[in-house]
Amino acid sequence: MSNVPDKIEAAALIKKKALELGFSACGIASVSSLPEDAAMLRQWLANGYNGRMAYLANHFDKRTNPALMVENARSVIVVLLSYAVDEATQSGKYRIARYAKGDDYHLVVKQYLAELQRYIENEITPLTSVRIFCDSAPVLERRWAQRAGLGFIGTNRCLIHPDFGSFCFIGELIVDADLEPDFPHGGDCGNCGHCVKACPTGAIEPDGTLNASKCISYLTVELKDQVPAPYNSSLKGYVAGCDICQNVCPWNKNAAAFASTLWKQTRVPTDDAFWENMTPEDFDTHFRNSALYRTGYKKIKQNIDIVSGSAAGRR
Ligand code: SF4
Ligand code: SF4
Repeated sequence: MSNVPDKIEAAALIKKKALELGFSACGIASVSSLPEDAAMLRQWLANGYNGRMAYLANHFDKRTNPALMVENARSVIVVLLSYAVDEATQSGKYRIARYAKGDDYHLVVKQYLAELQRYIENEITPLTSVRIFCDSAPVLERRWAQRAGLGFIGTNRCLIHPDFGSFCFIGELIVDADLEPDFPHGGDCGNCGHCVKACPTGAIEPDGTLNASKCISYLTVELKDQVPAPYNSSLKGYVAGCDICQNVCPWNKNAAAFASTLWKQTRVPTDDAFWENMTPEDFDTHFRNSALYRTGYKKIKQNIDIVSGSAAGRR
């Protein structure tokens, strides 16, 4: 490593490399505590909006201050990976969210972030303290993405990038290197409100508070127990996750044109018969490499039964 770049040059090189690796966007934020987010998170938890996701209350201090998680943390390098696969690939009675139609994004994002880390260490600066995250630890990812200039947090609580909208995975490298930060993104939803009106379970409050305990993504994926009966008629065909509030968002109109080739869509059967007759072996074959695999056959099968209308007979 000769001619160690200054923090402006280093930041530019890292962002360039992230795009070369196949990420859709990359930005940088300086590490600081997040007192406003801490206050909102505290209230959100007090309201019980996390449902049975008790783990969201764990590591509260670390969640709102990365310096408590990574020693001497100075910068958060945030990457986005657009996964706006074409919704036309899905037909029939049963639907799964787009993120579940390809490789497990946790693994993909972490694999390429590890390459980015190697590049930084080999070409830019030694790192003595560094951690990689993707939806896997107490990191307020959307806030860091916003602070890194990559978009704003919409009323549906998704990070919205001005070009490719909200269908993007977020990953972070938290490092002890001092890098030139980007300006935080200052956008907002204006008076749109499409997602609030479209949400079939009323999970989004008009002020942008998400009651996750009512959200179909939570009910069909995170909740270990069966979806409570009052929601049975509101799943809109979704047996895993839900994209409705993103599908109606005007910022996603051109999203498909930006989908990254890093994340590969796999063949998900679209015929109703597949879902209705799916055996544990079929689930294994089709979803072994998908994020859906973590949810497990039993839960997905329960959801299928609810959507098909046969759940009552099986209880
Ligand atoms: S994912 Fe579906 S259920 Fe959840 S907030 Fe969005 S529209 Fe509502
Ligand atoms: S649908 Fe409208 S209100 Fe909802 S996130 Fe998109 S822009 Fe914001």
